[in-house]
Amino acid sequence: MRAILLFIFSVISFCLFSQPKQKQANWQQKTDYNISVKLNDEQNKLSAFEKITYTNNSPNELNEIYIHLWPNAYRNIETAFAKQKLENGDAEFYYSTEEDKGWIDSLDFKINGQRAKWYLTKDIDICKIELLQPLKSGEKLEITTPFSVKIPKVFSRMGHEGQMYCVTQWYPKPAVYDANGWNAIPYLDEGEFYSEFGSFDVSISVPKNYVVAATGNLQNEDEKVWLKERTNIKAEENNRTDTIKNFQRFVSSKEFKTLRFLQDSVHDFAWFCSKRFLVEQSSVVLKSGKKVNTFLYHVDPSQNSVKWIDSAINFYSKLLGEYPYDNASAVVTPLKAGAGMEYPTITNVDAAEEGVIVHEVGHNWFYGILANNERTYPWMDESFNNYYEKRFEYKQKIPALHRGFHFNKSGDKNQRFGFGETPFGLLQQNYLFSARKNNDQPVNIPAPDFEEMNYGTIVYGKAPLMFHQLQDYLGDSLFDAMMQSYYEKWKFKHPLPEDFFDHAKSFTGKNLDWFNQLFSTTTKPDYKIVSARKGEIVIKNKSSIAAPFPVSAMKQDSVISTKWFEGFTGKKTILFTEKQIDKFRIDAYETTLDVYRKNNTISTRGIFKKMEPISFQLLGNLENPYKTQIFYSPIIGANLYNKTMIGMAFYNSLIPQKKVEYAIAPMYSFGTNDVVGYANFERHFNTDGIFKQVHVGVNGARFGYNYFNAFTNFSPFPTFAFTYNKIEPTLCFDLNKENKRSVIEQSIQFRSTFILFSKNANSNNDPIYPPSFTVPANYRVDELSYFMNNKKAINKNALKVTLQNINDNVDLVKIFAEFKQTINYEKPKKKLDMRIFGGMFLTQSTALPTNYYFLMCGNSGYFDYMFDHSLLGRSEVDGLFSHQLIEQGGNMHIPIDVAYIVNTDSWLFSANLVTTIPGPIPVRLFVDVGYINAKSSITTTSGTTNTYTPTFQYVAGAKIVVVEDVFEINLPLFNSDDIESKFGLLYGGYKDENSLQHLSHKITFTLNLNKLNPLKAIRTAAIN
Ligand SMILES: [Zn+2]
Repeated sequence: MRAILLFIFSVISFCLFSQPKQKQANWQQKTDYNISVKLNDEQNKLSAFEKITYTNNSPNELNEIYIHLWPNAYRNIETAFAKQKLENGDAEFYYSTEEDKGWIDSLDFKINGQRAKWYLTKDIDICKIELLQPLKSGEKLEITTPFSVKIPKVFSRMGHEGQMYCVTQWYPKPAVYDANGWNAIPYLDEGEFYSEFGSFDVSISVPKNYVVAATGNLQNEDEKVWLKERTNIKAEENNRTDTIKNFQRFVSSKEFKTLRFLQDSVHDFAWFCSKRFLVEQSSVVLKSGKKVNTFLYHVDPSQNSVKWIDSAINFYSKLLGEYPYDNASAVVTPLKAGAGMEYPTITNVDAAEEGVIVHEVGHNWFYGILANNERTYPWMDESFNNYYEKRFEYKQKIPALHRGFHFNKSGDKNQRFGFGETPFGLLQQNYLFSARKNNDQPVNIPAPDFEEMNYGTIVYGKAPLMFHQLQDYLGDSLFDAMMQSYYEKWKFKHPLPEDFFDHAKSFTGKNLDWFNQLFSTTTKPDYKIVSARKGEIVIKNKSSIAAPFPVSAMKQDSVISTKWFEGFTGKKTILFTEKQIDKFRIDAYETTLDVYRKNNTISTRGIFKKMEPISFQLLGNLENPYKTQIFYSPIIGANLYNKTMIGMAFYNSLIPQKKVEYAIAPMYSFGTNDVVGYANFERHFNTDGIFKQVHVGVNGARFGYNYFNAFTNFSPFPTFAFTYNKIEPTLCFDLNKENKRSVIEQSIQFRSTFILFSKNANSNNDPIYPPSFTVPANYRVDELSYFMNNKKAINKNALKVTLQNINDNVDLVKIFAEFKQTINYEKPKKKLDMRIFGGMFLTQSTALPTNYYFLMCGNSGYFDYMFDHSLLGRSEVDGLFSHQLIEQGGNMHIPIDVAYIVNTDSWLFSANLVTTIPGPIPVRLFVDVGYINAKSSITTTSGTTNTYTPTFQYVAGAKIVVVEDVFEINLPLFNSDDIESKFGLLYGGYKDENSLQHLSHKITFTLNLNKLNPLKAIRTAAIN
């Protein structure tokens, strides 16, 4: 399978054996199939009869046989497949209708003609047949059964898209019995196959005008002639429906034809059919003189894409050993498990692209002929194959870009985009993406244990890079000879990992412990050049893996000579005799897995020997370890006080994560005529144990705001404005996950937020307010927070608990917690969002300004005392900008001015519910309820008395979602009396509750500008 990298997650070890044997036995079972099947294209069903001849070549007596019934994976949402899909963030199958699901039924197993005792296991896509008599070593038996399959819509590999059928993993099939016993495994999307070798004799009946592509050799001569005709039909003509004759092509014939396919020495049989397939045909002749016929089936016009099958057959035959079958095909269909999927002699791709076709055809050698246990050891198939595919691309100089990253086919652009010239450059980026964040997993773990992203970055990234390093270290001829002899020795025999390692060690005579270590750990290789003096180069291994590495002597950026050195730990001096050298570089051709290349180069002259030249780049790029990259981007902003702001953002990193990352964005404000903006700096540390990474950083921000508006209703408002300066040291601990597939992320963060005020230049010219007015006092808030984010595809939730110490004249402690839960309904995108908030003050003081209080309403800027939110009119208490809400406290959807009636320095509980409504209307309904120990103060001559009254308040209404979580408009329709009377008080002129003005005063909006920060989005993004 060709992976498309995505994000994802859970727990489940699907293998029957926790400690599988790492060496294969010298025997294997044989399964020979005879199947006849008929397609019903009106009901998307197959009806079939199967006879399996099962030979027990093991030394053991068998009392049972496990049979895979993989169409049952699509039967309901409880199957291993369905659960994994959901864990991986894909809810499509979860929400699928009964009509789109699939299954297998009508089974009636007989053993040697006698009805068998059989039952489904806890996985309904596996059944167990209990044998009446044990099957002795060396004996065979005959299993027969009728079966019928309901073909699902395409959710993974098997399926139909209209009347185009991908019939894969479709028949009852014995699990593999090997040195580890039975390998009965449920069907999965992430995690592939393991099957016994045997022969197939399959007869397929379809309406006469279907084109069938299948594993093996077609036996019907008249069909071959008809397929030749299909070679010459042009795509446009094929798709024409203008005449009755053309249109008939798409109506299934009443008459059926039966096609017979035979194939030996394969472990699976797949077939595909459509009335619209065109066929491209070609052939290759291998070195031995053997001819292989090649076929490409597709619907769209193509440019002789069959030639890529030819190239793949030639390339792999030359590098590994000859292709043993008579034909090789590729079929272009919709597919939802990566960009391509391999089957013996036939591969399924979702587009006729060179890289994908070569990759899938290449699988014949690994998945097909070596036939490893891919579920438990995915690297033995996918990693080897991806390595060879990249070698092919390197040879052909195919741009190293996957679809999705496709920018331009020209090599120059790739270079500019930072991928380097080699297809392995992209794999490096994939590996670094996981490794730098300390998210990576070892190579040698079962496929279902990989976090979905890592299945791509490790199985398709790290491991192929390891083979590349091994190739460069051993030299092409030794590496290729070793692989050829591995292929020759183990073809058709299911080698296990130790079989490969034993072979590699004995064939090359090298100590490959480092290779094993790279396989089984997440230790990140990193060599560093410490110094270079007169040809004596001191190298330090910053990791614990003693992998061999090359060092190059360079002049004017070209390599003069390269030497490989055996690995070591600690420090070592190596020698070079070359004279007139500008610099030395570890791994100049980038064939090792070195995770930090910034320390790989040293100049032989100059003062700053380790300093790389600075490179300024607009917007950004991938990492170039040989440059000090500074990215820049013009930015523009606006708020009520600073008016328009124009500036430039400078930052050093996009992906992969760098150890030190910064972003600084100064802007000139036309409102306050000074420099404002924001900045942040972070150093990331990878750690083992309970924390995955620790981040130490500091955030800064400086913007205008108007302190007075917040407190007084001046008329007219003063134009006078202050500036706030925020300086915030942070320390954040990301917790390690016990199970990497878990979607639960947790972190603990500490920050000390200093808010410092200053007058801005305009304040002296204010006509109303005296320039002598003092600047508000600075304050500090120390905050400890715990975050839990459960990002599962349905019913996600999150928790945040915060303890704050506010230091503003007095010290005050408050604690609050926020829990969010989404409940997804039967349909995608229909949901109920729930937020529960509770908070209380642990200490109290009359000197506490009200902006620290808990509020029932969704707060506006005056209450954002941490200055965390981006607001258009931070200080406004009236007018449009005061109606911008931030999610904080009780979070009721009413404007800030109304909120004054319900605030407290005691305690508050609230719940906010927002639900979608049926149909396509983007309106949601909300209900906010809250219970608050409301505070009121009465000041008399004898002093101020505070009274606290628990009160219940509510608001309900409608919400218009323009962009979810970014821009939403709230219209309250019902509310509690206290809130209503406050409206009356404030807007006496609009007392008529039904008047439009009255309603318009209640409207609020959410504009979450923080969500739109592109830098943040890129750094947290997935590779797609
Ligand atoms: Zn693959």
